[in-house]
Amino acid sequence: MKKLLLTGVFKPFGVSDEYGEALCTMELLNNQVTREQGIHSPRSNNPSFGLYLMAENLEIPATVLDFPDWEDFTKEIRNGNYTHVGISFIVPNVLKVKRMAEYVRKHAPNAVIILGGHGAGIPGLEEIVDYDEVCRGEGVFWLRRYFGEDVDKPILHPVSPSAVRKYVYGAPIISDAGIIITGVGCQNTCRFCATTHKFEKQYTAFLSTGKEVFDACVKTGAALKVEDFALMDENFCKSPKRARELLVNMESHGKAYTFSTFSSAETIGKLGIDFLVRLGVKFLWIGVESKANVFEKTQGIDLHALIADLQNHGITVLASAILFMEHHDKQTIHEDIDWAISLESDLLQFMQFGPIPGTRLYKDYDAEGKLLKDIPWPKQHGQDEIWFNHPSFTLKETATYTRDAFIKKFQTHGPGVINMAHSYVKGYITVAREVAERQKRGMTWNAETLRYEETGNHAPDEFMKLRLEAMKRSALEFRPVFKAAELYAPNIAAAKKARMVAELYEATFGPPTLTERVQGLAVRGFAFVESIRAKDGDVMRQPGTIRHEWPDRHGAVPQATEENHWVRHREHKRPQTAAAASRE
Ligand code: SF4
Repeated sequence: MKKLLLTGVFKPFGVSDEYGEALCTMELLNNQVTREQGIHSPRSNNPSFGLYLMAENLEIPATVLDFPDWEDFTKEIRNGNYTHVGISFIVPNVLKVKRMAEYVRKHAPNAVIILGGHGAGIPGLEEIVDYDEVCRGEGVFWLRRYFGEDVDKPILHPVSPSAVRKYVYGAPIISDAGIIITGVGCQNTCRFCATTHKFEKQYTAFLSTGKEVFDACVKTGAALKVEDFALMDENFCKSPKRARELLVNMESHGKAYTFSTFSSAETIGKLGIDFLVRLGVKFLWIGVESKANVFEKTQGIDLHALIADLQNHGITVLASAILFMEHHDKQTIHEDIDWAISLESDLLQFMQFGPIPGTRLYKDYDAEGKLLKDIPWPKQHGQDEIWFNHPSFTLKETATYTRDAFIKKFQTHGPGVINMAHSYVKGYITVAREVAERQKRGMTWNAETLRYEETGNHAPDEFMKLRLEAMKRSALEFRPVFKAAELYAPNIAAAKKARMVAELYEATFGPPTLTERVQGLAVRGFAFVESIRAKDGDVMRQPGTIRHEWPDRHGAVPQATEENHWVRHREHKRPQTAAAASRE
């Protein structure tokens, strides 16, 4: 009987030791978006979604082990009787995988070791890790094929939250959301992009229709008691038919779900703001990359106007910019950093132009002899020093420029959470006004043209009423942080902005309720404790270990796992400093 373990790499994360680096924390926002924002930075870990999706869609019994510590992992190997052990990892974690594979060889010598994830593209991987099989692309179909199962069976979507161990200002107040993995890959073929190359420049849909996406939302929503979802897809709206069907399904069922997702700028323009608002998009990650407009996806688009329009309609924007591109020298890099900040996105990622194995950029730089091959893999994460020769910067300078870019954004626009709150309340005001105006003018939504059109029908837009309620809920989640944001603001302008946003909330939603006032006081208390801890260095908490088993499903009617295993995973109750985590 075959039995598969699917595991991520072991913790601690974000700790400098022989396997990893402090600047690689396994936290998306804190690591590379709200970096340098101290206690204002939202903290969370995203589960290894792919592992759950793969386990859900196999017939053989499978176990997922996410965020294990070394003891969890070794115990699982010793006691699990696994015939196959799959390890998913990114490039900087390859030395952890090496240690894990060595342990498997010793304690489960008959187990087949399968590697996958973005780290699987490392050239000469076999010289680092002792493994048997490698999946360099999409995993669900690869594993079905590998185990001789029916590749064409429908895809079942697992229930999973988008993040665990969530807090800001040290307070566990970030609300839950589900994750919906609609597809992987992107056809835009940007030269540096690991995703497009990993999936061979093709898009693979797991949920091809709007109905399938809606059903996955219903299932996850019921299990996790959420109405908010992250759509894991590089460019969800690039499949407009599916997005339109999703909206039709939500409208017919009276469900005004909200979504966070990724989109290229060109796609947003094609669908239009009215559609995005109606669909419930509340957070967009957009690759703006560089002022030099070197990528097709941003050419001819007024990004300043686009981002402002999104924010004015309640869609918070995370813009992503790239440092140390070929055209950057000591003057143009400052121009690009200033330009990226001038976009006034709520959040701003700075990522280094890193040649990641498997990408065209890596091949080009390898051929040109630009790669610095003696730089260890754990250092190749894009937030410290670059790992290639750049004619205008020393390695040390690249670390400093990167850090300083984040500091400049923080000093210029203040905490990201306040920017997001501002966009949510502005959006609520705008959309409420537009809904009222349209009713007055007798305008109704045309699902074909994706526009509001004058029809003489003055009936209220019932779905937009639900949408406004959902927008209000999204906005009010931020209310407890205002005072802490003001008290610990990085400068006077940021403190003023926190006050201004709090006043705008009061004018829009009325004075805070008793519950909101108590929550605000609690966040201030948490923030005080967090600020003391932060004085000793960054406060690094480790995610709890998540373990879930899928039974043998040979011959079973395909049925998604309904059990909400997310309430059962073991969490570390107390926050840990980086040093404590390292000792663990
Ligand atoms: S648009 Fe984004 S996901 Fe697509 S190839 Fe470019 S960087 Fe990658």
